[in-house]
Amino acid sequence: MNPIDYLRISLIDRCNFQCVYCMPEGADLNHVLREFWLDHEEILTLLKEVFIPLGFTKFRLTGGEPLLRPGIVQLVDEIAHLPETTDLSLTTNAFKLEKLAQPLYDAGLRRINISLDSLQPETFETIVGKPVAAEPVRWQQVWQGIQTAHRVGFDPLKLNVVVIPGVNDHEILDLAALTLDKNWHVRFIEFMPIGNDELFTNKGWIDSETIRQQIRDRWGLETSTIRGNGPADVFKIPGAKGTLGFISQMSECFCDRCNRMRLSADGWLRPCLLNETGQLNLRAALRNGEPIDSIRERVGSLVANKPEINFKMRESGTTGAYSRTMSQIGG
Ligand code: SAM
Ligand code: SF4
Repeated sequence: MNPIDYLRISLIDRCNFQCVYCMPEGADLNHVLREFWLDHEEILTLLKEVFIPLGFTKFRLTGGEPLLRPGIVQLVDEIAHLPETTDLSLTTNAFKLEKLAQPLYDAGLRRINISLDSLQPETFETIVGKPVAAEPVRWQQVWQGIQTAHRVGFDPLKLNVVVIPGVNDHEILDLAALTLDKNWHVRFIEFMPIGNDELFTNKGWIDSETIRQQIRDRWGLETSTIRGNGPADVFKIPGAKGTLGFISQMSECFCDRCNRMRLSADGWLRPCLLNETGQLNLRAALRNGEPIDSIRERVGSLVANKPEINFKMRESGTTGAYSRTMSQIGG
């Protein structure tokens, strides 16, 4: 069993996009009031006094869209400079990255994952949902953000692709081709029915092996020697500079190597993405004045129980019903 040492911290449940797979139309998107967000001090207290003493050293900032969180650069600076932090990364849609890439890098961030589901501006528009009036064309802005992050020196630069049948599956080869001459890691994520049962039922999902086969037929595919600490199976087109990752949470069970917990913007600690068992409200604990030792003890017990919680829903053959969308959980 892997040590559980990786915390995904959602900084905000709001987003400037409304991706069809993440914030489906009709989903309950009542945003958490700002007063219920963990503030920076609370996040740092939890890291320093609860998670780090329990062995957590790897942190990812996510959302919603984390670049919308006021003070993001300062927070990155503080987490990056905690002596125990061995890895800090951020997942973003890159819409605001052009301006923020350099300040984030200067604050100590080195790893960034960017969602990019299409290379075609029109397809991209259909995925990222309702346009916000007066915003410039969004694909171009995102692409600019990616180029800036590359120039600034983010390495590895990872691009996350959720493949939706009938929407962007015709672009699998074009997206994979981005790895041919750049050291980028393109990761295909199986689409998950979280908070979007209707979309899932109507369109289905494509498993990683089907995607790999398309790529294999075109260029061949070899197992990469580069291996992250996450759930991706990593491959490489022979001779390519970058790699291809496949995150197959639907077709495979990698619960036994799951090393992560999730903290929502409003302070709920969630041990497993696939079910809602065992969540703790750490915001309430802090604000009600629960002693930090007691909070650490409760989190420690949850960490100890995580392996059992991981397998719970898998064994019953269902991923359960979700009261939260991906944007609220943090992906
Ligand atoms: N806004 C940021 C972004 O889009 O990268 C960070 C938050 S987003 C919730 C984190 C990741 O979750 C993204 O890579 C996104 O593609 C993925 N995601 C969201 N909904 C998903 C779904 N239903 N199935 C699979 N991945 C999903
Ligand atoms: Fe926003 Fe990211 Fe969700 Fe898209 S995937 S709606 S960019 S949080």
